[in-house]
Amino acid sequence: MRILAILIYLLVVLIRLNIVKAPYLDENTKSLIFIFMTLLVPTFIIRPIFNKSTKNLVPLNYKELEASVALPKGTKMYTKASLLIKGMYVKGNRSKSSIVIHPELIEKVPIDELRFLIYHEVCHIKNNDITKNQLFRALSYGVLPILLVFISGFIEFTSMNLFIAYIVLAVIIYLSGILLYFLRIRHRELTCDSYASYHTSRETGIRSLLTLKKLGVLKDTKLVLFASHPNLDKRIQNLENS
Ligand SMILES: [Zn+2]
Repeated sequence: MRILAILIYLLVVLIRLNIVKAPYLDENTKSLIFIFMTLLVPTFIIRPIFNKSTKNLVPLNYKELEASVALPKGTKMYTKASLLIKGMYVKGNRSKSSIVIHPELIEKVPIDELRFLIYHEVCHIKNNDITKNQLFRALSYGVLPILLVFISGFIEFTSMNLFIAYIVLAVIIYLSGILLYFLRIRHRELTCDSYASYHTSRETGIRSLLTLKKLGVLKDTKLVLFASHPNLDKRIQNLENS
């Protein structure tokens, strides 16, 4: 996928520089396509390099915990002391993935709560969330605006008002797309909490979320609509109802 992304981006750059001719696109359209494609470079070209690598990861050495969880085929658990990410996260894709646990969690979180957190990540792996996420991000951030620019090429703007109306509408559609993207990723967090509570228990789930809050790993945000995770209350409420 990364090679394809590099090739597509290269083509966009060559078109922008007019080295590759695209007579159907005017200069403004070329610029806009170039801008929105550039927004996708971190997702499709830079991030996969870090996503696959297991360098700097130390294999987990916690036999009791390892024996008590059933991991999907191709998944391994690691630890990594990182200042940036203090919790637990998953890297890779459905066929080969790594669950990375911060050493502080191993030290301070009880084993049953760690199991809940691991099953939450297992759910992301089984649902192929990393790849799906990448795709939905590309659609909302990059493809949707290009589509809107493309559609504008077929509209005859007879007045300035009509042109402004189209711009306003396009911005609303673009923002709605981004909001939908965030809504979707928050929803999958709740799904994975429910999955993990099914494999452990509701009470363990609630306790582990409260522990993460106490350790400063989970932080509530006021910008709920643009958050990747629902706030704690919402997650606890979801567990109580599942
Ligand atoms: Zn998650």
